[in-house]
Amino acid sequence: MKIKSRLTLWGTLVTLTTSAIICITLYIGLRFSLYNAVDVFLEGEIQEFLSILNEGHNPNVDMIEKEIRKEIGSRSRNDLAFRLLDGDGKLLATSSLHDRLPNPWVSTHKKNSSPYDIGFDTISIPGSPVKIRACSQRTKITDRDYIVQATYSLDGVGASLALCRNLCIAAMAFATVLSILSGGFLARKSLRPIYFMSRTIRKIGGEDLSKRLVRSNNDDELDSLAAMLNEMLARLERQFYRIQQFTADAAHELRTPLAALRGNAEVALVGEPSPENLRRVLVESIEEYDRLAKLADDLLLLARADSGHELIRREPLPLHRAARDVVDLYAPLAQEKRIDLQCFIDAPLEVLGDGGRIRQLMGNLLDNALKYTPEGGRVTVSLDSNDGMAQVTVADTGPGIPAEHVPHIFDRFYRVDSARSRGTGGFGLGLAICRTISDAHGGTINILPGDGGGTKVIVTLPIAS
Ligand code: ADP
Repeated sequence: MKIKSRLTLWGTLVTLTTSAIICITLYIGLRFSLYNAVDVFLEGEIQEFLSILNEGHNPNVDMIEKEIRKEIGSRSRNDLAFRLLDGDGKLLATSSLHDRLPNPWVSTHKKNSSPYDIGFDTISIPGSPVKIRACSQRTKITDRDYIVQATYSLDGVGASLALCRNLCIAAMAFATVLSILSGGFLARKSLRPIYFMSRTIRKIGGEDLSKRLVRSNNDDELDSLAAMLNEMLARLERQFYRIQQFTADAAHELRTPLAALRGNAEVALVGEPSPENLRRVLVESIEEYDRLAKLADDLLLLARADSGHELIRREPLPLHRAARDVVDLYAPLAQEKRIDLQCFIDAPLEVLGDGGRIRQLMGNLLDNALKYTPEGGRVTVSLDSNDGMAQVTVADTGPGIPAEHVPHIFDRFYRVDSARSRGTGGFGLGLAICRTISDAHGGTINILPGDGGGTKVIVTLPIAS
């Protein structure tokens, strides 16, 4: 069932229930007060009747009958009647010409314990829809027991109650129709923005994420939903653009080693097939294969990080030992480039992380530092702690990274100067991977200018508690 129909249905049900409760309460209240008014009236009449009886000193039944007829006649009311019964309830005199009430009379009311109390009964007359309300009181006249009764036809009361009932039913029917119409109108009006939203959303496809939902700007729930959906679309657009860019860059990077491999194969084919030549081609090809394998590894790592895969295992890792291992690994390269590589470790530090990934992070940084620092330069790796975090600093005396490039330096495939790293085999993914690894460990990575020129990269990792 559509929301519009559901809202209308609920609104109608609520209106119907509310009006039914009001009408039933009104009806019960009216019925109670009408019956109460009849009882008060009958009670007054019976007192009057009793005082008339008590005025006559030796009441004679015929005389009483005459008397009560006269009394009733003077009132010209045919819904009121008086009856005089003996102590056993047998009818002695009545003001009604067609008295069809039970004879002898047995009161059905059991409320009052004393027989001389006033009692009320509602009596149905067989064969007639009319009900009679009777007020009875036992009395003693010249030591004999009598029951005096005033009766009242509830015809008028019934008619008033029937009118009230009909009015209530009409009011409820009217309220229901009004509620269906107004509910439908209101539901349509409030859901109109959703209709417009879904029309726009239908137009948003994979190729075009630039469309945005039109906002009503009236600060209601649907407007804030539209604002949130717009923010989500903007995020998706940015992410989509990033993925597109990443795929295009990856394809572009793949072309260079593939072209080199093809070039090598062509040279081997058309050139002199001497063993030296073939060996050289194979050695160069293996270098390109290695580059391709590294690119594939890097892309896989970034893709796994993007898809939310758990990148790291968390194990206690002595960071000082890992730093020392990485420095030892790169020492021969530093020696070859005649770079002074030094390692300063303040104190042993343990972090909770993935040894392989943290070594990869430090290796990337050291690799960059040695790659871009000219011969005779200096590279230092230092380890200390600050504010509950282990801090690894890799500083070099190379050309440094110009300030305008720093905000983009962690982007994938970003190079300060494409000639600078492509020539030395970099894909512009090293720092992006460093950031992914430090993020996965709950750490940070920042690039600052070196103290005496060059570059300083500071990585922080949470110390194992
Ligand atoms: P690559 O693998 O190409 O070196 P990175 O992401 O590691 O890619 O580095 C991105 C760019 O940042 C490099 O192309 C290089 O221009 C610059 N860069 C990184 N480290 C240094 C450094 N220590 N000194 C100077 N430039 C650097």
